[in-house]
Amino acid sequence: MFSRRLLFVGAGLSVVASRFACVDGKAVAAQNFPVSHSDAEWRRILTTDQYSVLRKEGTEYPFTSPLLNERRKGNFACAGCGQDAFSSTTKFESGTGWPSFWAPIEGAVSTTQDSSMGMVRTEVHCSRCGGHLGHVFDDGPRPTGLRYCMNGVALIFHPASA
Ligand SMILES: [Zn+2]
Repeated sequence: MFSRRLLFVGAGLSVVASRFACVDGKAVAAQNFPVSHSDAEWRRILTTDQYSVLRKEGTEYPFTSPLLNERRKGNFACAGCGQDAFSSTTKFESGTGWPSFWAPIEGAVSTTQDSSMGMVRTEVHCSRCGGHLGHVFDDGPRPTGLRYCMNGVALIFHPASA
């Protein structure tokens, strides 16, 4: 009798847990992306810092990325799979300490609602490997009014061949 009731409570909790998983960004990890690796493979492929941001949605310390001062023409690609994510033509100086863009390359990123850290933010990840890149806010410059606040460690810059 008692154990049956526990079983019922347990089933109810797992429903709540899976529903919660859908809204806090964990669903991203469960989706199928064109490029996917096991957690162990990602750990091997990526540096510790890249893994922390791309796979665990960590955030790099502000003003630490060499890409902040990258002013050449070219594309910023996802460090997880190499897909071009942002063009230098949309990069701007936000003063936040993170590389910032007002638009991604079309189709390169997807977003989910992220309610961690006690606030609701829009999480940005690579559409090809699901790697977490940063967040997008609506206080950016024209023409989009958006600010894609990216972790430099999640991006690799490829200068345009002149
Ligand atoms: Zn990627």
